[in-house]
Amino acid sequence: MLTLTELKSLLATPQKIVITTHHKPDGDAMGSSLGLYGYLIQKGHHVTVVTPTDYPVFLHWMPNNSDVVIFTDEKEKAAKLVEEAALIFCCDFNTLSRINELGELVRASSAKKVMIDHHLEPEDFDDYRHWDINACAAAQLVYDFIVNQLEDEKGINKDVATCLYTGIMTDSASFRFPLATSNVYRIAANLIDLGAEHWKIHQLVYDNASEDRLRFLGYCLSNKLEVLHEFNTAVITVTKDELAKYNSTTGDTEGVVNYALSINGIRLAALIIERTDKVKLSLRSTGDFPANEICKKYFSGGGHRNAAGGASDKSLTEVVSEFKSILPEYKNQLIA
Ligand code: 5GP
Ligand code: MN
Repeated sequence: MLTLTELKSLLATPQKIVITTHHKPDGDAMGSSLGLYGYLIQKGHHVTVVTPTDYPVFLHWMPNNSDVVIFTDEKEKAAKLVEEAALIFCCDFNTLSRINELGELVRASSAKKVMIDHHLEPEDFDDYRHWDINACAAAQLVYDFIVNQLEDEKGINKDVATCLYTGIMTDSASFRFPLATSNVYRIAANLIDLGAEHWKIHQLVYDNASEDRLRFLGYCLSNKLEVLHEFNTAVITVTKDELAKYNSTTGDTEGVVNYALSINGIRLAALIIERTDKVKLSLRSTGDFPANEICKKYFSGGGHRNAAGGASDKSLTEVVSEFKSILPEYKNQLIA
């Protein structure tokens, strides 16, 4: 274990630091990691963000993106960085299985590990933990870590503010979820004062689709959306061939499930996609319906109550049937 005082004294001299985040990083994963990166490099540390996999092109505009090392592209380099690090920050995840092969390398490293996360049920692999499931984004916790724990608000420059704003904006679905409290709005306002150009960030993340991506969305909504009125549930299924037809790249399916949830009266929405190795599920729910419980119980996954995911080795058809067969168990909650 590491106390805050010990962590502060470690950070008082330049260290070799790795920041890592979850598989297929999203806006909060990259926002929290690159925000922390931007802060730590100013202090003279030797820092590298190592992601387990690639991530959506609509996040490539982020400050310092070109310094990121993608593990699947540069395994040896990433492994060496992890091995030689004195500190490893783990942003936006809390079990080492969420970073694939990189997980065992992190576990084996003698580095002190710092977890900055807002997911349920953390695994005990860390030395210092800044963890709060009531935070709407890991980027909010990075902000809190810098401002309230390191007491260094002036270390938040324009680049850091931009990254942290991106994380908070994306994980709160543009300040829409209940966890986007008045305090989160105050943090966002402060980040704008510190240089985040909110309108530009919104445009870069949300108005940055390829024509294929938009047509793919249209195709899903017209042809692949099934509404199960009896269960207030909507399901969209996508095959490998359909992904290929629309030249789908990482991130192109992001947000599709929210359209299913946007139907009046729908409490649970699922996007079930046939990926190359597995079938992936993305669930979204409203109110207190526990989407993460379904993912954990049936699809070796987890997540938050209203946004969760999982995977299966079965065929797409089997997974879709399995998902539908689970619904009667939850009928009372779905129609309440
Ligand atoms: P998405 O549907 O956007 O892929 O994921 C939504 C949320 O569910 C993520 O923030 C993450 O917390 C969680 N999640 C997605 N896939 C998995 C998974 O395979 N395992 C676990 N434990 N959580 C997941
Ligand atoms: Mn997050």
